[in-house]
Amino acid sequence: MIVVTGATGQLGRFVVEGLLAEVPASEVAVAVRSAEKAAAWAAQGVDVRVVDYNRPETLEGVFAAGDRVLLISGNEMGSRVTQHRAVIDAAKAAGVALLGYTGVLGGDEASFRLADEHKATEAAIRESGLPFVFLRNGWYTENYTADAAGTVERGVVLGSSGDGRVATATRRDYAAAAVAVLTGEGHENRAYELSGDVAWSFSEYAAELAAHSGKPVVYRNVSAEEHREVLLGAGLPEVFADIFVDVDAAIGRGDLARTTGDLARLIGRPTTPLVETVKAAL
Ligand code: NDP
Repeated sequence: MIVVTGATGQLGRFVVEGLLAEVPASEVAVAVRSAEKAAAWAAQGVDVRVVDYNRPETLEGVFAAGDRVLLISGNEMGSRVTQHRAVIDAAKAAGVALLGYTGVLGGDEASFRLADEHKATEAAIRESGLPFVFLRNGWYTENYTADAAGTVERGVVLGSSGDGRVATATRRDYAAAAVAVLTGEGHENRAYELSGDVAWSFSEYAAELAAHSGKPVVYRNVSAEEHREVLLGAGLPEVFADIFVDVDAAIGRGDLARTTGDLARLIGRPTTPLVETVKAAL
């Protein structure tokens, strides 16, 4: 059985769709917070198991010996190491055959704060002794294009990453990589550095938005302090403002610009170009 946690999230949905295109529904299970959200899959024969990373008892018996499990990292910053440990412990108790984890590009080498919980989770997985596969995802293109219309309206892409580049890919691309390792062979104890084929700059992103909207859009680089002030002024909680600024600093250092080719190799096709995601978003 292939079991996917976080399956009803934005990445997880694409993983499950991809799995269902490759293997019978009877070989797929989802471990989700809301059975309702997974009802359409249940109707297709997917086994729906209700779990909460915050309640370890809900994870008891959810996995079985020989399962291939994908732990999709949670989204409650600050709680994730404990949450992920609960899943790892349950996977260990069951004796799963493979534990996949969606970490972050760079793994142990990543120098930004958001990476800390991923590093701790990878360490816990290694300590468990389970066969693992680390899917170290780079940035989603959608992190930016989700607000493409708003950005065009403002006419400004604002950031503090200077000329830094970021090698994004779409959630569908990363999901396809997860499907490849869950349905393929020989991925045990490997760490894949997954990123888009092309690293782009925010000036280039602004140019794409302008070209495909027909409206002027420019990149405005500001200091980290000003960036933080703007984000706070827009109503972002302090914790998120700090994280965004920290990530931009990492982009400025080139941390998220690595183009390893791992993603394209795993999915057997080029990653989705920025321009396509921009066009789809506008
Ligand atoms: P989402 O926020 O859409 O999905 C997170 C999933 O985790 C959801 O399915 C959610 O369940 C599930 N989840 C959260 N808390 C719990 C819990 N306590 N118990 C069980 N399940 C839980 O994120 P994405 O799908 O877009 O991305 C997946 C992960 O990747 C994120 O959670 C985050 O760790 C990381 N990420 C990566 C980014 C990148 O650019 N590479 C950017 C942002 C995040 P439910 O569906 O019920 O809400």
